[in-house]
Amino acid sequence: MKFRLPILLSVVFLFALGTYSATRAFDPPKSSSGSSPTKEADAEKPQEEATKSDSAKSEEKTKKSSNLNKSKKMSDPFNKLTADEAYVILKKGTEAREKGYTHTKTPGTYICKRCNAPLYNSTDKFESHCGWPSFDDEIKGAVKKQLETDGTGRIEIVCQNCGGHLGHVFQGEQYTAKNTRHCVNSISMKLIPEGKELPEVIKADKEKDSTKAAEKSDKKASTESPILKSGK
Ligand SMILES: [Zn+2]
Repeated sequence: MKFRLPILLSVVFLFALGTYSATRAFDPPKSSSGSSPTKEADAEKPQEEATKSDSAKSEEKTKKSSNLNKSKKMSDPFNKLTADEAYVILKKGTEAREKGYTHTKTPGTYICKRCNAPLYNSTDKFESHCGWPSFDDEIKGAVKKQLETDGTGRIEIVCQNCGGHLGHVFQGEQYTAKNTRHCVNSISMKLIPEGKELPEVIKADKEKDSTKAAEKSDKKASTESPILKSGK
C-alpha cells in the first residue's frame, strides 16, 4: 500500500490532466467551428459568384446570339442607319424643323441616305421657309409619290429604289414656276457636293424582304407616331 497511494494519486492527476487537456484540445475546434460558418460562407461566396458569372455569361451569350439572329433578320444590303435615320426613313417619322440641309446652298446632288440613289439636284432647291429642305422637282424617276396612309390626304414621297421615306410633296402653293414643293427630311438625304463622285446605288431588288418589313413598320408607325401630325 505504500507505493499504491502515490501511483493512485498520479493516475488521478494524470487523468485530470488528460481530461483538462482533452477539454482544451476540444475547445479550439469549438471556437473554430464557431467561425467556420463564415469561413464556409466565404468558401461558398466564390462558388456563388462563379455560378452567377456563369449564368451571366450564358445570358450574355444568349443575348449575343439573339442579337445576331436579329441582325441577321434585319440585315439588308443598304447603308446602315442610325436610330434617328431609321425613325424617319423606315418609320416615316418627321425630322425637327430647320435641321440639316434646310438652308444649304451648296451645289451638288442629294442622294438617298439608305441606298445612295440620286434624288434631287441642288438646282431644284429653293427657300420655302417651311423649315425643311424644299425642291420643286426631283431627278427623273427617283421619287415615288403615294397617298399618305394617315388619312390626311397628303402625298408621301419615298425613294423609288429602296422605298425609304423622304417627306411629302405639295402642289399649288405658287412658290416657284413649277408650283411644286417636295418637303424633304434632311436626314433622309446626303449631299454629294458638285465634282465629287457619286457612290454606287445599292439596288433594292437584292433584298425584297427588308423592303416589305420596312413597309410593314411604316404602316405601324403611321398610326402610332404623334410627330406625324406636325404640319408638314
Ligand atoms: Zn433609297
